[in-house]
Amino acid sequence: MQINVAQLLRASIGSVRDYEIKKVIDITGDGVDSLVQGKVRLMRTNRSILVRGTLETDVELTCSRCLGQFKCLLKMNLEEEYYPTADVDTGVAIAVPDEPGCFTIDQNHILDLTEAVRQYALLALPMKPLCKENCAGLCPFCGQNLNRGPCGCLVKSADPRWAELSKLKKEKGK
Ligand SMILES: [Zn+2]
Ligand SMILES: [Zn+2]
Repeated sequence: MQINVAQLLRASIGSVRDYEIKKVIDITGDGVDSLVQGKVRLMRTNRSILVRGTLETDVELTCSRCLGQFKCLLKMNLEEEYYPTADVDTGVAIAVPDEPGCFTIDQNHILDLTEAVRQYALLALPMKPLCKENCAGLCPFCGQNLNRGPCGCLVKSADPRWAELSKLKKEKGK
């Protein structure tokens, strides 16, 4: 997800360039590639290149209730400033702001969106992923995925207790 911004760095403040993004990256770092798609607008500011855009990606998640794998659409509203590290004409190094995690444009004027997209995607991940809102989860007794139908455990396990209870009730009634 690299964009050469040499031309834009030479352009006047306020100049913009639009880019279509369509790139496969490994978001979670676990070797699973996700296709990231969308549009970004790059704008030259007095000190940086401001990147704004909306990107989408499908990630494979594990449902926290039934442990099934499912695809989840993540939407990211990107807005980040990228600071040049070298003057576009002279190549002289430019000091970047002393901010933790601030993004930079490399010495060859390449702006790489990958790390920002990865960070935005990770922030967009649900805390408790669910394959669907009403996921039935797993049976605590036999472990069957109850989204695929009932397993019969609940009836069996509840039976003895109800039997005891009704016996007690009968005895009290005597
Ligand atoms: Zn589920
Ligand atoms: Zn069961």
